[in-house]
Amino acid sequence: MVVPPLSRMPAHVTIRGSGMAARCCARLLTQNGIMTKCAGAVTSTGPAVLLGETAQVLLRDCMGKSLQQSRYMPVTRRIVAWGGQEPVVVPHRGAAFAPGALNALFHQPGRQEADMIGAPLFIVHGIGPFPKSRLRRFGSRPATAASVTLLHPEDEDACWIEALDHGWLFMLSTAPGQGWLLGVGAPLDDLCQMSRHLAPRVVVTGQPQGPFETAPRLLECLAAPGWLACGNEAIAFDPLCGDGTAQAAREAILAAAVITAIMEYPDDPHAMETLLMHYRSMLLASMRRHLRFCAQFYSMGGNSPWWRTQISALATGFEWCSGQLAGLPQPRYELHGLRLVPRMVPA
Ligand SMILES: Cc1cc2nc3c(=O)[nH]c(=O)nc-3n(C[C@H](O)[C@H](O)[C@H](O)COP(=O)(O)OP(=O)(O)OC[C@H]3O[C@@H](n4cnc5c(N)ncnc54)[C@H](O)[C@@H]3O)c2cc1C
Repeated sequence: MVVPPLSRMPAHVTIRGSGMAARCCARLLTQNGIMTKCAGAVTSTGPAVLLGETAQVLLRDCMGKSLQQSRYMPVTRRIVAWGGQEPVVVPHRGAAFAPGALNALFHQPGRQEADMIGAPLFIVHGIGPFPKSRLRRFGSRPATAASVTLLHPEDEDACWIEALDHGWLFMLSTAPGQGWLLGVGAPLDDLCQMSRHLAPRVVVTGQPQGPFETAPRLLECLAAPGWLACGNEAIAFDPLCGDGTAQAAREAILAAAVITAIMEYPDDPHAMETLLMHYRSMLLASMRRHLRFCAQFYSMGGNSPWWRTQISALATGFEWCSGQLAGLPQPRYELHGLRLVPRMVPA
């Protein structure tokens, strides 16, 4: 690639972070002809992740290539022991990635910091610190995770989830004979001691890592003139729903479309304001849907005070999101493919 002289360097967008949200956003902006600069990229292994079909399609659309089957463990069954019931087997078509394996599949587009001069036209914060850092938390569910050896070969194409009195356990097969065990709500050892179904199927081999917060949360200010925030640190979904990476891709699609539209209407003084308002209200609405979805799962998990506390926090969060949305105007844009267009409002 020929690098233009610095004096003629075109306007650029700075992308902070190197998770899937940041990578997808950088790729989509580049595809729209907008130059991006990577900043603050960190090599964090992150959690092991299970991607459902929707997440796989969204990542393919964002990154322009399909996931190679040789790089993940196919998951064909979800085994669910919920609410004190015996395990139920549910067919699934998922892809399980060991910590760090998903990010390793995708090159992060964008020039390095040293190649660029001048202030960016816009900044995408895919990691903290954020310009406005007040976080609204919808509960507290610290988690720890550790690598495990699978004692049952048939678990290699399965994921397990088990509800316990003080939390839940989730196990994902990440390589032949190996897995990743997540314990939410109490220390991993304590949860394993309570577990009837999952703990007897694994041996914990790694040092537990964490704690990681898993309760849903979002920045109260997700965007302002000149910047927006996306990714797990800005808006986090409960891993119970397995929708975190799909959400990261959706945020990236919306963020890239908003920034592209801002650059397409440079002479409209209100464009940036209304587009960023649109970004905020779409993300708030997605959080509200997520909280409702979580409440369905948590209401069936158990009857102990721990489960009741989680349901109450989710209900409070749903009300807060509804209050925030009520104060925002109706959406004025809609996505057509990967582009935002003004919405046709009936006269
Ligand atoms: C415990 C946990 C389990 C998850 N499971 C799934 C899943 O099964 N399917 C899915 O689609 N999404 C899952 N997610 C969400 C998914 O990781 C993110 O949505 C995705 O990485 C994109 O976010 P990002 O671009 O901000 O990534 P990143 O910038 O890579 O951020 C990933 C997040 O993981 C946290 N983290 C870092 N190291 C670890 C670690 N060793 N263990 C746990 N968390 C760590 C970071 O603090 C950060 O919040 C999970 C998230 C967590 C925290």
